Amino acid sequence: MTHRHGGCLCGAIRYEIKSEPALVAVCHCQNCQKQSGGMYSTNLGVPEADYVQTGETKVFHDKGDSGRAVDRYFCANCGSPILSRAEALPGMVLIKAGTLDSLAGIVPKMELYTDRAAEWVAAVPGSQRFALGLG
Ligand SMILES: [Zn+2]
Repeated sequence: MTHRHGGCLCGAIRYEIKSEPALVAVCHCQNCQKQSGGMYSTNLGVPEADYVQTGETKVFHDKGDSGRAVDRYFCANCGSPILSRAEALPGMVLIKAGTLDSLAGIVPKMELYTDRAAEWVAAVPGSQRFALGLG
C-alpha cells in the first residue's frame, strides 16, 4: 500500500495519509457547499494517528445539524479547505478528497444529505444514499 499525499492550492499545507481511508463519503450539506463553493464535498475518513500534516491551518468552528461541533480547517493563505474534525466521529479526520495529489482509487461508497443535493448532480453508482447526515 502506498501512502497518499496532498495539500492546499498554494502549497503551504502538505499532508500524508498512512492508511487506506476507513470511509469515502460525499456530503451534499449546505455547509460543505458554502465552504467549498462546490455542489458537495468528498471526504476521506482517516484515523487521526494516520494523518501527518506540515504547515499551519486556520480553523472555523462550525456545527452540524445535531448541534455538535464540526471544526473546519483551511489554508489561511489560499483558502483551500483541508479537513474537518467532527464531534460525531471522534478520533477521525475528514480530509477533503479534492486536495489529494492523486485521486486514483478514490470512489465514494456513501452519500450524505442527498435531500440537499443539487438537482443536476447524479447519484454515485453503487453508493449508499442517506437523506441526512450521520450526526
Ligand atoms: Zn494554501
